[in-house]
Amino acid sequence: MDYANSLLELIGNTPLVRITRALDAVGQAPGPLVLAKVEYLNPGGSVKDRIATRMIEAAEASGRLQPGGTIVEPTSGNTGVGLAMVAQQKGYQCVFVCPDKVSEDKRNVLKAYGARVVVCPTAVAPEHPDSYYNVSDRLVREIPGAWKPDQYSNPDNPRSHYETTGPEIWEQTDGKVTHFVAGVGTGGTISGIGRYLKERNPEIQVIGADPAGSVYSGGSGRPYLVEGVGEDFWPETYDREIADRIIEVSDADSFAFTRRLAREDALLVGGSSGMAAYAAKQLAEELAAQGRTDAVIVVLLPDSGRGYLTKVFNDEWLASYGFPTGVEAAAEKTVGE
Ligand code: PMP
Repeated sequence: MDYANSLLELIGNTPLVRITRALDAVGQAPGPLVLAKVEYLNPGGSVKDRIATRMIEAAEASGRLQPGGTIVEPTSGNTGVGLAMVAQQKGYQCVFVCPDKVSEDKRNVLKAYGARVVVCPTAVAPEHPDSYYNVSDRLVREIPGAWKPDQYSNPDNPRSHYETTGPEIWEQTDGKVTHFVAGVGTGGTISGIGRYLKERNPEIQVIGADPAGSVYSGGSGRPYLVEGVGEDFWPETYDREIADRIIEVSDADSFAFTRRLAREDALLVGGSSGMAAYAAKQLAEELAAQGRTDAVIVVLLPDSGRGYLTKVFNDEWLASYGFPTGVEAAAEKTVGE
């Protein structure tokens, strides 16, 4: 019989798949090869399962998290799902704090795993006692045995990628990877993987993809719509020594390319994946123009498009922000209209 004893054993070891059609001419050429690391195939549906496991296991080992303890984190996204899944399997409680602008669907995912969700008003200043930041800090103080992983400062976030994702990419490409591309949020992914790959081969180029307006590409935190990437501050988990280059991508290009990945390469992924893959396409075209057909570009796709069906994959939502859908002839028609 071939089975796992727990979903936790199935985290990581995600496949690499070649992107072809959405890359236009460069996807048909002999090279550069553009390979997607498909992180939505993790059991919690995103790359964040990796950091959740590592952060929890390190906290157990150091005694910061004791049996019966409670994990408190201000998150509503993929990190929450990863923490909720790992915590449940290991017998911990979870409380997530999120602003009221977070969709009910996202909150319900966390509750489905058995977590508690505390919703805070968005329309208050950060110093207000009911703000998202203050509520999570208060819960950590008040709940006995509470522990806050804090993915923005926890070194086990980048470390999980240094220990798992980086070596996987190196082994899956037989050490032939020449370029690594990832979107940057906390910076854990790019810092951990980038450091590992550069230690194996200092020639490997590490490229960050960033929404226009975010600090990593020189912005001041101007708003953008792509989720999970870009920041208005510099997190401790981002190692500024690692990226050789940052490619800035507009929301319009991120969303249009996310749609193309689903329609042309059957990769139903989120907007940050579209953003990173768009940067990888740009890089592949530059390398092709230089005759670098031997290049092997690995781009990490963090999560699935399922969580964005009412946004990136909804024509009305895109149109409401003035974005092209990139897709002619919408697939749905009501008979009789
Ligand atoms: N994409 C999505 C959808 C994410 O949730 C995150 C994590 N914030 C990232 C990309 C960026 O990963 P990292 O935090 O490791 O930089």
